[in-house]
Amino acid sequence: MLELARLSHVYGDHAAIAELSFTVDAGELACIVGPSGCGKSTLLRAIAGLLPPTSGSVLLHGSPVRGVPDDLAVVFQDYSRSLYPWLTVQSNVEFPLRGRVGRTERHDRARFALAQVGLAGAAHKHPQQLSGGMQQRVALARALAYRPALLLLDEPFASVDAQTRFELEDLLLRVHAEQGTTMLLVTHDIDESVYLGDRVLVLSASPARVLADLPVDLPRHRDQITTRESETFVELRSEVARLLRGVPVPVAT
Ligand code: ADP
Ligand code: MG
Repeated sequence: MLELARLSHVYGDHAAIAELSFTVDAGELACIVGPSGCGKSTLLRAIAGLLPPTSGSVLLHGSPVRGVPDDLAVVFQDYSRSLYPWLTVQSNVEFPLRGRVGRTERHDRARFALAQVGLAGAAHKHPQQLSGGMQQRVALARALAYRPALLLLDEPFASVDAQTRFELEDLLLRVHAEQGTTMLLVTHDIDESVYLGDRVLVLSASPARVLADLPVDLPRHRDQITTRESETFVELRSEVARLLRGVPVPVAT
């Protein structure tokens, strides 16, 4: 579905991402983990067509991305700036669908997405009446109601408390299982990348390069307690941590 070929981006004289190549298959939930400032947001913005790459290419369904593709949605880290404060929750979720689908469908899709994220009762509130975690749920509902072929998530749970974060991670997994949307999520949190991903792409410090592309050999159904205790999870998170610290990964004997 998505193919990056030697994608690079340079800001002035600062190389943010360097020759990134990887593919994401339809239905996959791929996580990208890398240190803060390594170029993760730059990468997502280039994929979303918000930033023209300095060199290399992004192909979505085999066609080069120029400008924001129609069937793509992005959830940004900063929910407080991504929702319109003057619109109700319902209208915020409907907003990207204006001019695309009829009024009734817009309404129904927004209702359904808000129920999916557990906010059916908050449709008529305004964003500032909700907690941070709830606002991020609204941002997620808006992306889901749009029904994109590809959903990009930029550290979507980085600004919420730990408990809310666990809930939102599980919510994302549930939606992925129910809807099969292809997702690419970036995070600086090693545990989160392993917990959520079918696969973890590990990026180096700036400029971002792909250090490893690791399959996550855990059952798709994950649980915040048992999954995180499992041997596979613990081994993988250590492997990612070693890669990020530049320590050679020991070869299993
Ligand atoms: P991450 O999301 O991994 O934290 P970013 O992609 O936001 O990293 O940034 C990567 C690097 O590029 C950082 O060093 C950052 O300071 C720099 N950078 C990001 N945006 C710009 C910009 N618009 N102009 C110049 N430098 C930028
Ligand atoms: Mg970022």
